Amino acid sequence: MIRGPMARPLEDPLDVGQLAAQHTRLERDFPIDGFVRLRESLARGDGRASVRFRFHVAGAYPALEGAVQARAWLTCQRCLKEFEAALESPVRVAFVGRDAEASRVPDEYDAVTAPGGRIQLSEFVEDELLLALPLVPMHDTPAQCALTLAAEAESEAPAAAARSATRPFAELRELMKRG
Ligand SMILES: [Zn+2]
Repeated sequence: MIRGPMARPLEDPLDVGQLAAQHTRLERDFPIDGFVRLRESLARGDGRASVRFRFHVAGAYPALEGAVQARAWLTCQRCLKEFEAALESPVRVAFVGRDAEASRVPDEYDAVTAPGGRIQLSEFVEDELLLALPLVPMHDTPAQCALTLAAEAESEAPAAAARSATRPFAELRELMKRG
């Protein structure tokens, strides 16, 4: 028996029509590092993203509803230090075959083009995460920036002390070389 791509609807590219007809629930977890476009906006590649989607039919279109979530490292634009931000964005989209159909999806849905009724899940998730990024990433309050800077100064102080403590030995070594 020959199995076509339709036989495995939960593998990329996803068949959104079939998933919608079956009211499939999908939960996935992704390493942030795999998202090349998103990575450009992040301070570090650490972290994971997760999605929860419920497929259904909206009007005449396959659709999904749910959320994307991630913990990602951003650079605070107030203190210029890295901080771990919780990104979360609700998702409610209907899939159209062509851009021209976008205006026909029910009002409460965003239209996303799925050529041939298929989407690459990781690309779709990356697009949603890019939309979830704050325009100007910042610690919640100026006080948090101050705390971050203070914590950094404190962690650097012992390191600086250790560096100067090694100097006498270095000088001693110099003396021994000369002698
Ligand atoms: Zn800050």
